[in-house]
Amino acid sequence: MSAELRRRVIAAAKTIVIKVGTSVLSRENDTLNVERIQSLVEQVHAIRQSGRKVVIVTSGAVGAGIGLLGLPGRPRDLPHLQAAAATGQAHLMRVYNDQLETHGYHAAQLLLTANDFRTRERYLNLRNTLSTLFEYPVIPIINENDTVSIEEIKFGDNDQLASMVNNLMDDSLLIILSVIDGLFTGDPSSPDSRLLQLVERWDDELFGHASDSKSKRGTGGMQSKLQSVRRATEVGDSVIIANGCTENILSRIMAGEELGTLFLAQDEPVPAWKRWIGYTVAPKARLHVDHGARKALVKDGRSLLAIGVTRLEGEFDEGDVVAIHDPDGLEIGRGIINYNSKETLMIRGRRTEEIAALLGTVPYDEVVHRDNLAVFV
Ligand code: GLU
Repeated sequence: MSAELRRRVIAAAKTIVIKVGTSVLSRENDTLNVERIQSLVEQVHAIRQSGRKVVIVTSGAVGAGIGLLGLPGRPRDLPHLQAAAATGQAHLMRVYNDQLETHGYHAAQLLLTANDFRTRERYLNLRNTLSTLFEYPVIPIINENDTVSIEEIKFGDNDQLASMVNNLMDDSLLIILSVIDGLFTGDPSSPDSRLLQLVERWDDELFGHASDSKSKRGTGGMQSKLQSVRRATEVGDSVIIANGCTENILSRIMAGEELGTLFLAQDEPVPAWKRWIGYTVAPKARLHVDHGARKALVKDGRSLLAIGVTRLEGEFDEGDVVAIHDPDGLEIGRGIINYNSKETLMIRGRRTEEIAALLGTVPYDEVVHRDNLAVFV
């Protein structure tokens, strides 16, 4: 049963997004593990030959930079961290490129910050760049732009970046390669815990299975991987977390071997536009709605009208994405708002027919139109 599900997931995937962690790519002494990269690239080549697109989201720049600059350990201050990233990134790309060229590909480097996903224009631009790259014998290799990334524009870590990149793709499978075999029922080092081969239904309780600990050189950890899994499975993509140090891991996964943990896609794929609204861009503010509006959005598939809005938290402009909360405080969806926060405050709780008298104009009947709304519950 679970083997059959695996085969189906793999057969349906047209794009494979592979996230590789620092610990997979580097050695104890902060040098890159060239043999590992060589092997991963060989396997990527085999996936491409099967007619699929491949995107690599790679870590390892900071780690490699630490080694190259001879730093005693991971720097705590931003300038040294960024210096290590700048130095390591060039080296990392050279190693990928050398390996890719032996199979007839070039490496295409994309260094991103969370800002590149925040505005619709930049997001679409990134999508277009990727789809153009797929027309060539090129493998897109993505990392966070660590040399300019500061707190406000950071993804957090590459697990988050990978799920955002995955959200850009259609019919994709996200494979997260780290140094543990997958998600265990408890602490992976304890003899009582066992590897979960298959997670059919996402459940937030899964976070309880994941320890907070991180590998020595990685930054993500299992908690973060699960956040990333949630983001991908909610929009209709499956995810596999597996051990990147296992011999031929990618080829074996693609052949249907039950390695790692497979998290199945939940529900139907969410269209790209709603993926962006609901799962990629960070909301600007919160909009609280009453029970009637909750029902209209969740049960009846309708738009949000001013009459259902009870309260606002934060300021926003027309066209921003806002989070929508029900009377219990639960976030039920996100949408693009047609009015700015001042106007929304003036029309909240009022009927649509009253808007003209209040604002002097009625640019939209809806506060958030159904087409620009992603509902979560
Ligand atoms: N972008 C970082 C690097 O290349 C890694 C971030 C992460 O491991 O999540 O070193």
